Amino acid sequence: MRKVYLDYNATTPVDPSVREAMLPFLGEEYGNPSSLHWVGARARKALEESREKIARHVSCLPEEIFFTSGGTESINLAIKGTISKAKKEHVITSQIEHKAVLESIEDLEKGGRIDVTRLGADQKGDINLDSLREAIHEKTVLISIMFVNNEIGNIYPVEAIGRIARERGIPFHTDAVQAVGKLPIDLSKLSIDLLSFSAHKIYGPKGVGALFVRKGVKIGRILHGGAQEMEKRGGTENLPGIVGLAEAMERMHRDFEEESQRLASLREMMEKGLLGTISGVHIHGNEKWRIPNTLNVTFEGITNETILVALDREGIAVSSGSACASGAIEPSHVLLAMGVSREEAKGAVRFSLGRGTSEHDIDFVLKRLPGIVERIRQ
Ligand code: PLP
Repeated sequence: MRKVYLDYNATTPVDPSVREAMLPFLGEEYGNPSSLHWVGARARKALEESREKIARHVSCLPEEIFFTSGGTESINLAIKGTISKAKKEHVITSQIEHKAVLESIEDLEKGGRIDVTRLGADQKGDINLDSLREAIHEKTVLISIMFVNNEIGNIYPVEAIGRIARERGIPFHTDAVQAVGKLPIDLSKLSIDLLSFSAHKIYGPKGVGALFVRKGVKIGRILHGGAQEMEKRGGTENLPGIVGLAEAMERMHRDFEEESQRLASLREMMEKGLLGTISGVHIHGNEKWRIPNTLNVTFEGITNETILVALDREGIAVSSGSACASGAIEPSHVLLAMGVSREEAKGAVRFSLGRGTSEHDIDFVLKRLPGIVERIRQ
């Protein structure tokens, strides 16, 4: 049976070049970067070379990159590391963030450490910058707004947000898990102070990521236990993973333009195909400001759970885009924040394309979907 994977925003397969780069570090290059002997020195060299490669791809200094166990840890470190224990502070975020941001902030809020302003979104999923400006006050110590939304693919104006934050002297963190490797990012030109990213969304291994912390920006630790990562994160570094992250970023940049264009045209083929063959199809997000691989769609009158199961039976893997709570798919908090009704949000399906997606795959899905939707509706 043909298998089609259209869930690249959830995770990606490890690229062969990444696997190859990692292999020595699962074998003969077994050193601990903190060890003072020759084995450690070799590991340390690989660690620092990886840091340099990654820094080059986002135009920052190597000493501004701190390795973590992935996007979620980077986000927790950025947010919790910024909030001081001493006084009640104010944080601005949005309602459409990934759970890693929402729950890190909620945790601090529940502990009585912070007050929070959560900016809403309009029906295209965009955030109003005037509302951001108005929300800032003298106790605001952090703005955390994502670079790219994982469900609808919208790209947020981090350049403008950074300028607003910088003018008021407030650190700006952005969750760039869906942006790094998918968009050109030049941190020398953006007023971003903290930027989180992850390897497994860009054909790297799972369980490794990094946090960019701009020189001069102070953050505390959340993982204690050693002086690794310039004393910002205790624990022996995941060297195979870090080497994999560096290679994944190199690999993404090798054919970045062509691949982005290829994905955009496949996404367009998918979008046009769905709109042309199925009635009651609604596309979510801002069609002008979306990363090229993501398409979020509601099929009127049916829940995404039924479509997901029916597609899975045909060998097609897609996602609802939102988290599963106790086995049932909850309507997406992103779509609800955009004013989409609960009923419509329950029908949203996310197709996310990637390096392995071909025209044949899209064709296959477009041939199967109309029948599936019709059967479910009946
Ligand atoms: N932020 C966004 C936007 C994501 O899409 C994800 C992954 O789903 C994360 C954060 C969490 O990253 P990780 O899986 O590396 O912890």
